[in-house]
Amino acid sequence: MKKISKRAKAAYLLLIVFTVGLVFFYTNFAINGGKWALSAYNTHIYSNGALQTTGSIVDRYGKVLAKSENGKRTYYEDLATRKSLMHIIGDNSSFLSGSIQQTYADKLAGYSALNGVHMLSAFNKVSKMELSISAELQKKVANAFGSKRGAVIAYNYKTGEIVCSLSAPNYDPQNKPENLDGSYYEGIYVNRALNGMYPPGSTFKIITSIAAIENIPDIFSQKFVCNGKCTMPDGGTITCSGKHGEIDFKKGFSVSCNVVFANVANMVGAEKIKSVAEKFGFNQNGKMGKIGYSGGYYDAGKAGATNLGWSGIGQYTVLASPITMMQVSGAVANGGSLNSPKVVNRIYNAFGIPTNLNISLPKSVISNGTSSTLNEMMKMAAEYTFGESTVNNYSLRCKTGTAEVEKGKPHAWLSGFMDSSENPYAFAIIVENGGSAASSTRYVALTLLKGLTELDR
Ligand SMILES: [Zn+2]
Repeated sequence: MKKISKRAKAAYLLLIVFTVGLVFFYTNFAINGGKWALSAYNTHIYSNGALQTTGSIVDRYGKVLAKSENGKRTYYEDLATRKSLMHIIGDNSSFLSGSIQQTYADKLAGYSALNGVHMLSAFNKVSKMELSISAELQKKVANAFGSKRGAVIAYNYKTGEIVCSLSAPNYDPQNKPENLDGSYYEGIYVNRALNGMYPPGSTFKIITSIAAIENIPDIFSQKFVCNGKCTMPDGGTITCSGKHGEIDFKKGFSVSCNVVFANVANMVGAEKIKSVAEKFGFNQNGKMGKIGYSGGYYDAGKAGATNLGWSGIGQYTVLASPITMMQVSGAVANGGSLNSPKVVNRIYNAFGIPTNLNISLPKSVISNGTSSTLNEMMKMAAEYTFGESTVNNYSLRCKTGTAEVEKGKPHAWLSGFMDSSENPYAFAIIVENGGSAASSTRYVALTLLKGLTELDR
């Protein structure tokens, strides 16, 4: 009896070990199955480390941006367009982290925990992803951007759909250059539109203004004096690009007076500016489906009066990504309510059935009253920069930024939107070391605006 019982115990023990092992295996399989199937060693999807049997990617009108045929991955026919889409879509090498082909590799391969990858060839069908991007708009903007370095990003502020996203430098994903050394290609793998962290310069005055309007009751009747510079209480100096004389807050915004905004930042305080900035995604990372992006950085809690002043002008240690500055304008445009950006509209499985809902609710970040005041101020700023006829043509509202950097000419920024129910688009443009924002972003901005009005027609 004793012997049998010992054997029974041993058998039970074995059974337990086996069951635990099985549970462990299946749990791991459920969690990591997608990753295992997509390992570069799995020759169904990768051959010699290159992407093989994956689904197609199309733009908002169904134009094929990437597809696989006879084991070869090809990209959009027009060179400028496919280069401009390299950071969003990815290339064959799976190096471009954050690209669609990398983050959605399992979806594109049609992987499912039940069927594995094999089912695909059996049904000879692969999944399709439809992006919100317009290939035509990409082409126009990429050609206007030329060989500059920087980023352009635009979205529909009512739906969140990104219609254009360009990061430069880039390369042809179909014929990746062997040598990516040299200063031009510095930071080549970074999608600058989503993850470029730049000092925002005067585009940040939109955020400082929101904090001022919401916290200083008599801000509109305050008067400031700009002599081209001013001395702050801690002895530091704030310089301005003009000598604006006696000037109020609204005029200070439209002509981008640093003296006004250094003083306004000190009146509001670092905490209030930080709290507004964080509503727009500063000090955190954002996510669009599986694609992550950088928000920005603002913390002037320990800054003295001069540095706090500079922080209100988007200098000091302040950083922002283009996608964040686009959302700042988007929220102002949309009555204070922010729609999260997205780049994937639909994912169709191997049987042509949409598998994602893609619904997100807007969140209220600023009051309706504050947004309409900012709308008016950004209209004045747009008229100052682009002239009345351009502003009327495109219902343009915007703010320039010329951000001082350690090396070379300042970065040139433009963030804005069209105040139009027909063309509800907001955007951000940055030209690295572009110098004057008004002149170096002008052609790209006008091309983008015209292209946006021609969408969905
Ligand atoms: Zn000034």
